[in-house]
Parts: sequence; structure tokens; C-alpha cells
Amino acid sequence: MVNIPAESQVIRLVHDLNLQLGSILVDDDFIEAFGPFVVSQFQCERLALLANLQNDTSSLEHASSWPKTTDPDQLHAQRSLFLDLNELEAHTLTQPLIAGKLIRTMSKHLADTPLSAIARLLPEADLTFVPLLGGADTVLVGLLVLEKSNDVDDERLPLDDTLLSILGTTCGAFLAHTLEHTHTVDQFSTNMHEMNILQQIDAELNDTIALDKVFEMLLDWALRFTNASAASMAMYDVDTDTLTMMLQYGYQQPDLKAGEIVPHQRGGITLRVARSGHAELIGNVQDDPDYVPLSEEMHTQLSTPIFREERVIAVMTLQSTKPNGFRDNHVNFVDKLTRRAGVAVDNARLFEQTNRERQKLSLILGGIADSVIVVDHDGHILLVNQSAVNAFNLRSESVLIGKKFTETIHHEGLIQLYKSAINRDEQVIRELELPNERTYHAAISDHSSIGIIIVMHDVTHYKETDQLKNELVATVSHDLKQPLSVMRGYLDLLQMTNEFNERSQRYVSQLFNAFHHMKQLIDDILDLARIEAGIELSLDGVDLNKVLAQSVVAIRPSADNKIINLTTDLPQLPTIRADEGRIRQIFTNLISNAVKYTPSGGWVKVSAEIKPGHVKIVVQDNGLGISPEDQAHIFDRFYRVRRPETDDIEGTGLGLAIVRSLVEAHHGEISLISRLGEGSSFRVTLPIT
Ligand code: ADP
Repeated sequence: MVNIPAESQVIRLVHDLNLQLGSILVDDDFIEAFGPFVVSQFQCERLALLANLQNDTSSLEHASSWPKTTDPDQLHAQRSLFLDLNELEAHTLTQPLIAGKLIRTMSKHLADTPLSAIARLLPEADLTFVPLLGGADTVLVGLLVLEKSNDVDDERLPLDDTLLSILGTTCGAFLAHTLEHTHTVDQFSTNMHEMNILQQIDAELNDTIALDKVFEMLLDWALRFTNASAASMAMYDVDTDTLTMMLQYGYQQPDLKAGEIVPHQRGGITLRVARSGHAELIGNVQDDPDYVPLSEEMHTQLSTPIFREERVIAVMTLQSTKPNGFRDNHVNFVDKLTRRAGVAVDNARLFEQTNRERQKLSLILGGIADSVIVVDHDGHILLVNQSAVNAFNLRSESVLIGKKFTETIHHEGLIQLYKSAINRDEQVIRELELPNERTYHAAISDHSSIGIIIVMHDVTHYKETDQLKNELVATVSHDLKQPLSVMRGYLDLLQMTNEFNERSQRYVSQLFNAFHHMKQLIDDILDLARIEAGIELSLDGVDLNKVLAQSVVAIRPSADNKIINLTTDLPQLPTIRADEGRIRQIFTNLISNAVKYTPSGGWVKVSAEIKPGHVKIVVQDNGLGISPEDQAHIFDRFYRVRRPETDDIEGTGLGLAIVRSLVEAHHGEISLISRLGEGSSFRVTLPIT
């Protein structure tokens, strides 16, 4: 006889079910709430529940039971339970479940069906399988297995079709909702986790500039997040189509060392991905003709290119021992990781390249005897070589890089020279005595793109020889003065006591000329020796306009003689503290040279400019000009230009040497701009105190 449930029974069941399931959200709790309810309401001994835990509709898995079992084997068997829905559909006995119909059978009849595992969990039982339909598409989201009670006096509800179908639909809807919720929470927490990790990766990548560290970090993250069994990173050079192995993790015997080029025949899937620029996920590498096995047990390979400005620069390869070992979220994560890697790898690579160049340069600079210091435009030391370290008794080069130049180098002369070179478009040169008691020829120039370059050449040896030579010349000159005045005396006497004919008179005049030249030479030599020995300058306020005017007046007759237009263009110049006689000597010398070395009809101009901290006076002419080779020696003692145009012009070659010494004695500088055949411009800067 078929027992038709009373309407009140149905209504009560629906009501109780809703009450019972309404507050449940997490699937683990589901059985806790649902199990006791079903067992208390229905003529049922035990029940088992399987659910669609994956977010797809192809399987049911992970059984839970009520009453709960504590037997570890049973628990394990329940947890590893897996029902493939396609298999259910393919079997005639189980097929109705897919269509939402319940089936009733004894466990023993399930031996060769897809439900055999459940039969093993509930052996010797009269089973009813209730499909749980739910979700938007009303699909099978779970399966309820009820073991019928054998008690004939059971007061509870019978396992009736209608009641069970109500149970199935209501419970299915709740289960679907619960699973959906769990899945959303899982997804959310996975996304949050991934976001946190990516943030951490960004921070770490930003902090890392060493290429090997960048690779280590990337592979480490990829291995951690995807559970890959092995991983490698290879750089790719698109121009030469070569892969260079950078790092390998997890292989028993990595066959290539870091930095080694991967032979083409061993490039495998990685090389294929590098060439195509498309990531590849290969579920079973054993079927791939390009696969090069490094470890026998690998099944899945995920190779992802790393791009920089649309060029593949590296490939990250992950391998798993499981078939289809990487899921969508792994692939997505690796994709995000490699997108970030491009910039970091490229930055690290460029840094390494620059570092290598820098080391090369540092080796070269370290090997030369000249001292070199480069300072950036913010005043920090960019580069300093060993020779400079020694010259200034400093600590090692590496400690100095990045330090403020003016706070590190305690040499007033050099710092003054450095400051005066900033923003100047010409090289500033001066001789300096350094703490190691040696003399250096320091040349400082400001390069807009590099910084301030200081090169110092040790000239102590030349200075010493020069000193000896000067002393010798000064002594000889001094000793020559005496016989020279005797000669002059006798010449005068000769002229007074004799009547010479015209010819003899010419000879005597030539003797006088030679005498004057020799006297001038000796005077110049002795003057230079005095200046270099550090003559006491008699310092006082000097009116530059007055002194320059006096120099011009002194030379004007010679200029007029040669028909040279000698002009001045002078603003009101400040009074400077200097030795007036010596300042006059400087400019008289320069103006007289300009007139001397400018052919008839030319011009000579004296002009001046006031600059912050100094005044610049320029003596310019449009005369013979000086070739670059001669310019290099023009301030040397006794240096005279040997050209046909200057052969007939008399001079000692000491004038400019004296001028330079006097300018430097006043803490000024002298420089020259000249072009052969076009003229010269001597510039003297004197500090305004
Ligand atoms: P000198 O006694 O020969 O004039 P200086 O030391 O004054 O000696 O000059 C050195 C050399 O520099 C000169 O021989 C001359 O060739 C060159 N010189 C100096 N001033 C000028 C100038 N204004 N124009 C061209 N050449 C010059």
C-alpha cells in the first residue's frame, strides 16, 4: 500500500526544513545541521552527503556522514570520494539522478556502478539516493544517500517519493546557496591573498636591483604560489636568438650553469615561447615533440615570456610532476608576476651593465697616475681614483662616492678652484700644493652632462728641475750684471773719448742695442726669480681704471707709430687690493705684446667686465694670433713663437711668464683665446676683495 503523506506532514516538513537550514552558510556545518534533522524526521538509519565543491558542474566529491564517523579509514574514504557526473549519466542505473529522480537500491547491487565507493561506505544497506538540485540552472549540486531504517514501528516520516523530492529540492537550493557563498568567500580570500602577495612582490622588486636577486625572487614567488615542482629562468636575446640560463630550481641535476648559453637543440618549449612571445601551458609534456626532459617525472610545463617594450627579454618556466598540474589561477598569477618582472629585470640588467662599465672605467682610472675626481652638479662625488685618494690622504674610493665634495676634500686652494670652475665654459687651471707635499697641475672643467671633472697631474719632478734651472739662470744672470755694467761703462767712455766715422758709429750703436737686450733679459730673469720666490707685494687699494689708463698711455706712442688703433671700453671698475706697480706691469706687458704682434693698420682693445667676486679684464687684438700648439707653451719661460712673421720682432720670451706669475701672486687667473691669423684675446680675472 502506498502511503500518501498528509498535507500537514508536508507543510510541517517544509517549515522545519526552512527553519533548520535557513541560518546555515558554511558547507562544513551543513551536515551538522542537516544530518540530525533528517535522521530525526525520516525513517533513516544513516545518511551521507556529497556536494559539488568545485565551481564547475562535472563532479561531486567529499562525502560527510551522519552520524559522524570517527574511524580514520572511514573518514579518509569519505574525504576522497569522487563522483564523475559524466560517468553517472552514462550508467543506466545512475542516469536518473542527473535528471533529478531518486533511485532506490541495495548496496550490493552497486558493485560495478559509479556509486560503488558509496556502497562500500554503507554496505549491506537499503539505500535511497536523493539528487539535490539547485543553483540558477537547477543542476545536480549534491547527492543525499539515505540508509533505510529496519524498524517496523518507526514513527518517523517514511522515505516517501514526494517527501524526499521536497527534501531534495529544498535542501538542494540551500546547498547551492551555501556552496555559492563558500565559493565567493574562497574566491574573495584568494583574490585578497593574491593582491597582498602582488603588493609585496612590487615592494620587493622595487627594492632589488641585483639581477640574480630579481630572478631568485620571481622564481621563489612563482614556486610558492603555484606549487610547481621545478622552475627556471632564462634570458633571451632576440637579436641573436639565444637563451641564457640564469637560474634553475628543483631539478635533480641542473645541466646548465647560471650565465651559460642554452644550446638551440636544448632550448625546448622555453625557446619556442621566447620566439613566439606567447605563454604556453602544456598539460602533458611527454607528448610535446620539443620537450627536453631535465627530470623524468615532470608532466606539466608552463612557460611565460617576460617582455620589455614589446620584446621578449626572458622566459620563466614552471614544471609540475602532476598531469595538468597548473590551474587557471596559477596561470593568471604567473602572468601578473611576469608582467611585473619585465621592468625589474630590465632595470636590474641595465644597472648591472652600467656597473660593469663603471668598474671598467674605475680599473682604467685606477691604473693611471693622474688624480681624477668627478663631482656631480649637486656637489656629490661621482668618481674618484686611487691616485686622488692617495694625494689627499683619504679613505678608500668606495667610501667617498656620494659624499659632498666640499666636505670631503679639505684643501682650500682646490675648493676655491672647483668653485670658480662651476658654470664656466672654459677649463680652469692652476698649480696646487697638496697634503702629500707634492705639486699638481690641476685642470678643472664643468661638463653640463657629466659634472665637474678635476684632473691633477703630479708636476713635482718638473718643478724641482725647473727650480734648479731657475736658480742657475738667476745666479748666472746676477753674475752677468757686474761685467755688463763694466761693458756699459767702457762703451760710454769709448764714445766720449773717440770721434767715430759713420760706419764705426753704427757698430757702436749695435753694441748698445745688444747691451740693452741683454740687460732687459737679465732684468726679466731676475724679476721672475723674485716673483717666484714670493716677493712681498705691497698691497693697497688700486684704482683699476687709473692703472689701465696709465698702461694705455705708455704704449700709445708705439701703437701710433705702427698705425694701430688702440682703444678702451671700460666701465667704472671697483678698487681692488693689489700691488699697483705690478698690476700696471701686467697690463703694460699684455698691451705692449698686442701692439707688438699686430701688423700695421690693426686694432687693440682693452675692455673689462665686473663679475660676482671678480673683475675680468680683456686685452684683445686682431693681430697674428697664436696656433693651438704654441698656446700650450705660451706662458712658459723663454718660449717664443717661431714663425716667419715673428722672426724680426725682438723679445725675451719672459713677458708672459712674468705676467702669469704676477696674476697668480694676486690670486687671479689668466687665460687665452686665440686663432692663428685672426687675433688673440688675453683674459685676466682678479678677485675683488
Ligand atoms: P716676448 O718677449 O717674445 O714677447 P712673451 O712671453 O711676452 O715674450 O710672449 C711669448 C710669445 O707669445 C711671443 O714670442 C709671441 O710670439 C707670442 N705672443 C704674445 N702675445 C701675443 C699676441 N698678442 N699676439 C700674438 N702672439 C703673441
